[in-house]
Amino acid sequence: MSDKRTFTCIVCPNGCTIETVFDGDKILEINGQQCKRGEEYVRQELTDPRRTIASSVPISGATLPLCSVRLTKAIPKREIFNVMREINKVRLAAPVSIGHVVIQDVCGLGSDVIVTKNLPKATEA
Ligand code: SF4
Repeated sequence: MSDKRTFTCIVCPNGCTIETVFDGDKILEINGQQCKRGEEYVRQELTDPRRTIASSVPISGATLPLCSVRLTKAIPKREIFNVMREINKVRLAAPVSIGHVVIQDVCGLGSDVIVTKNLPKATEA
């Protein structure tokens, strides 16, 4: 039995609206993508949807109370809650710099959580 679904491709800023008819993970019809990557994106969404995470964690001794972090690689969508649970345990201390690995290979998924902001130590007044 076939289903219809509309996707918004997030691979590039064009954000193509892609209309599909599919049966399980088999694409029967696809329209609206402006390039081949759109079809690959839909195929991935149907078989193994992945997402990346950007979040923030508490940091002590810096000029700001929170430090932004992100994943280095998209993870399976079903793992988002497990990964967020690990990110929520993180507590940083200044200084930190962009690219600093906060959690290596989070939940064994092959993606690291890294810092995305330089936060030096706050100077005392
Ligand atoms: S289908 Fe191609 S052009 Fe359209 S949003 Fe996806 S990557 Fe960009």
